[in-house]
Amino acid sequence: MTTFSKGFISRKGLGWPATAARAQVGNPLGVKVHYEGTVSPVRDHAYCKSYWTGIRNSHLANTKEGYSDIAYSMGVCRHGYVLEGRGPGHQTAANGNQALNRAHYSVCVLYGTNDHSVTEAVVTGVREAIQYLREHGAGKEIKGHRDGYATACPGDPLYALVKSGKFEPVKASTPRSIDKVNTDMTPEQDARLKRIEEGLAQKPWTYKNPKLTGDVPDMHQRVLDIEKKLDAILAKLK
Ligand SMILES: [Zn+2]
Ligand SMILES: [Zn+2]
Repeated sequence: MTTFSKGFISRKGLGWPATAARAQVGNPLGVKVHYEGTVSPVRDHAYCKSYWTGIRNSHLANTKEGYSDIAYSMGVCRHGYVLEGRGPGHQTAANGNQALNRAHYSVCVLYGTNDHSVTEAVVTGVREAIQYLREHGAGKEIKGHRDGYATACPGDPLYALVKSGKFEPVKASTPRSIDKVNTDMTPEQDARLKRIEEGLAQKPWTYKNPKLTGDVPDMHQRVLDIEKKLDAILAKLK
């Protein structure tokens, strides 16, 4: 189950009816990331629901494309909340053509051409949206709208994160076995063990990692000191 650190806003929560979008045929290969492609107003989260509904309304009013619903599978607002669009199980209409729409779901970040960096909250929201779509059948691919279609979407800052793998959902950490077993530890011992575990999770594993060496003398320096002493002894022996 995907947990949403900021929140998940369903169609129901948005006051939308069930989607009339066509059913997804087979499982898509993964997800494509989008942005708005225009200037996106920087706004308070209080306006995000109506903003997302406004995007839906503009798609429904687009007679040229003949959309049956908002084109996107999911959205992520600039505050990191995940918004339901067509949702999984329905084909997106955002990727450019029928074949591309069948091949990937779509996640639209409510960023625009005026956004030059991506906040951690948005990165987390995109990961959660992708994980949610995977739970509902999406494959492992994470691509940008521009992959396979001539568009600037999702803009350079988001696309750089697509390419770097930053949107890959983080595996839920398995519950620590020590929570069950070592109930006899003192709070100090438990805190120390937790710190070491955090240190081990933080790569690279190095003697410079303060979480690992915070209360242990610097082993590297000790080795260097011993080597120095040996050198001094050897020099005297010569
Ligand atoms: Zn796009
Ligand atoms: Zn928001």
